[in-house]
Amino acid sequence: MMNQSTENNNRLDVDIVIFGGGVAGLWLLSRLRQAGYQTLLLEKNALGAGQTRFSQGIIHGGTKYALTGKLTASSESIFDMPRIWRDCLQGRGEVDLQEVKVLSEYQYMWSTPGLISRLAGFFTSRIVRGRMQLLKKDQYPALFRHKKFHGKVYRLDEPVLDAGSIILALAEPNLEATLQYSSLHQFSPQNMEVTDNNGTRWQISCQQTILTAGEGNAALLQMLGRQQPEMQVRPLQMVMVRGGLPEKIYAHCLGASSNPRITITSHEDDKGNIVWYLGGQLAEEGVQRSEQEQIQKAKKELHSLMPWLDISVLRWATLWINRAEVKQADGSRPASSFCMEEDHIITAWPTKLALTPGLAADIMQLLEEKNVSKSGVKALHGFTNASIATLPWQEEDKWKN
Ligand SMILES: Cc1cc2nc3c(=O)[nH]c(=O)nc-3n(C[C@H](O)[C@H](O)[C@H](O)COP(=O)(O)OP(=O)(O)OC[C@H]3O[C@@H](n4cnc5c(N)ncnc54)[C@H](O)[C@@H]3O)c2cc1C
Repeated sequence: MMNQSTENNNRLDVDIVIFGGGVAGLWLLSRLRQAGYQTLLLEKNALGAGQTRFSQGIIHGGTKYALTGKLTASSESIFDMPRIWRDCLQGRGEVDLQEVKVLSEYQYMWSTPGLISRLAGFFTSRIVRGRMQLLKKDQYPALFRHKKFHGKVYRLDEPVLDAGSIILALAEPNLEATLQYSSLHQFSPQNMEVTDNNGTRWQISCQQTILTAGEGNAALLQMLGRQQPEMQVRPLQMVMVRGGLPEKIYAHCLGASSNPRITITSHEDDKGNIVWYLGGQLAEEGVQRSEQEQIQKAKKELHSLMPWLDISVLRWATLWINRAEVKQADGSRPASSFCMEEDHIITAWPTKLALTPGLAADIMQLLEEKNVSKSGVKALHGFTNASIATLPWQEEDKWKN
């Protein structure tokens, strides 16, 4: 390997190197190349392989975060995101997302009878008005038209996107600028040496490095000997269920806290069967439970919320995944996306998929302020490009129960 690298003497000189091809790195790669920065994205696993492929794909506009009845910093920063994403979906935005699969144009929120009065403040808040509409019974999705359903259903004007197709739409036009590496031998802010998946060693130099490696940012910062910024992880145990589900649904059950009691999105396994993907409070609290306990809890929740559903025929699986974010003093979710520049390294976490456009804009501004120059986008070749991750509900080995 050493000999090969010396003989090949492979060198790449670019303006910007990005570490990590989740939604943040890929969105940025697209914007940087359009702006004329010669950019190379280094990926260790596969594009989307981190949190992005586990995402429920909900493009929040903050409504979920206004559940406490008052506007929070989180709801303010995320307010405009659905519009930016919709522009991209329609081909008139900053990145081209016309190929992205829109799973649903809107989401439902449903409340159980006891909760309705407590939520009065929420329904009158500015962020909710105009985006959320109380439905008449005949407008309910079929699932909630059952006589045993006694709550209320609201329609929320925020889309749900297929995470896999977001990765594809962002990656495909820029694949030639991605390099999948197996080892990182040396790493300083403007110089690094990697071995690509073909075993070829590359020496790379750049003006600026951007870390969008999600949970991987911590190890990269450690390699650089940096203490700041610090990262926190907030784990989830998500639940997947399939087999005999009546319909696809995208819905949050309003709960007693600011987090939905359960959030359901719908996807397809590799045979095209409907998969419900369950998050919200169930997944947050699920990290205290074993896999079997989590499945029992999910069965109990679905039975209590939809007693008309025959859960005996369903098959279950759980997924453990960490959310990676900038550290907060109290360990709570950061109010917005985060990026910080120090000595030729920008470290970034979007906090939410939905907040990615805001993060990309902040980073573009940092690059302008740092006077990082644009040498123009020229073809890059000779190394192995990054592969694209599969989606968890399409991996048959996940379905054990
Ligand atoms: C279960 C779940 C559901 C979610 N649902 C939603 C939702 O509905 N709506 C929403 O807005 N947000 C949602 N989120 C949050 C959202 O998914 C994340 O904020 C977002 O995907 C983070 O993207 P990222 O690009 O920063 O990181 P990641 O997606 O984690 O990508 C990091 C990339 O870096 C790579 N990498 C790691 N280490 C290295 C290294 N050393 N060198 C090179 N590459 C490296 C990884 O392989 C990966 O490809 C959800 C998160 C989870 C976990």
